[in-house]
Amino acid sequence: MPAADIDQLVAKVTAKPLRLLFYDTENTQIEIAGRVWSLRVDGYLPPGMVKQPKHLICWSGKFSDGQKVHSQVLTPKEAKAHDDSRITKGLARLLEQADYVVAHNGDSFDLKNVATRLLANGLPPLGDMQTIDTLKIARSSFNLESNKLDYLAQFLGFDKKVETSKGLWDRCFDGEPAALREMRDYNLYDSVLLEHVFHALKPYAKTLPRLVDAAEWRQEMCPYCGSTDRKKLKRDHRTNVNNFLRYRCQPCQRTYRGWQAIGSKKSGSVGL
Ligand SMILES: [Zn+2]
Repeated sequence: MPAADIDQLVAKVTAKPLRLLFYDTENTQIEIAGRVWSLRVDGYLPPGMVKQPKHLICWSGKFSDGQKVHSQVLTPKEAKAHDDSRITKGLARLLEQADYVVAHNGDSFDLKNVATRLLANGLPPLGDMQTIDTLKIARSSFNLESNKLDYLAQFLGFDKKVETSKGLWDRCFDGEPAALREMRDYNLYDSVLLEHVFHALKPYAKTLPRLVDAAEWRQEMCPYCGSTDRKKLKRDHRTNVNNFLRYRCQPCQRTYRGWQAIGSKKSGSVGL
């Protein structure tokens, strides 16, 4: 067998997909108290009116390499006491097991909320997390009418997000058992939907991080799926200094470039 073929075979064996966690959180509203001059509010209410800061109601998460959808929801007792320490701790434990955590608007919303609840509960910080935000992918790659997960799912032909019953957030705030169950189910569905949406967007996303690990990752493999099945493209990738060969991965359809400049003796691949 020629050396090049052996290299390709080794690359196939050693390509290991990174572990992604698709997750979603649901939070309470902010409870306010105080007196106002008018019911019309222009701008922000004073922070002094915050009676109960928002906190987690439930979360769900699914790893890319498993079928199980993990989730935790407040017990009625915890909801009434506004104690989300147990479920915040549970979510942090899960987030730490992933190579990349994936959420829709996760960078601005979910992950910051988790950090806030860790801070509020005196729990250890998450540290640095590597994230993929499907909202950022949608905004930077497409010109859709709406970038909401619900709209993306409909646009892609997936089932709509589950409808919620009236006053669900209020009833969860008050610790109603049926409302907490409904919220958990609503939230579970979102993590599953998110994974589907991510995979549908993946070939078209403007940029993505490298999603495969390898014993020697600079091998001739697609940085997004690890396949060595590729077609060389006519146009090279040019920087101010060098030219690089460009490829289209056949299974996942993403393009990438060789790791070393044309003319160099070393080889490998880098995402574009
Ligand atoms: Zn690929």
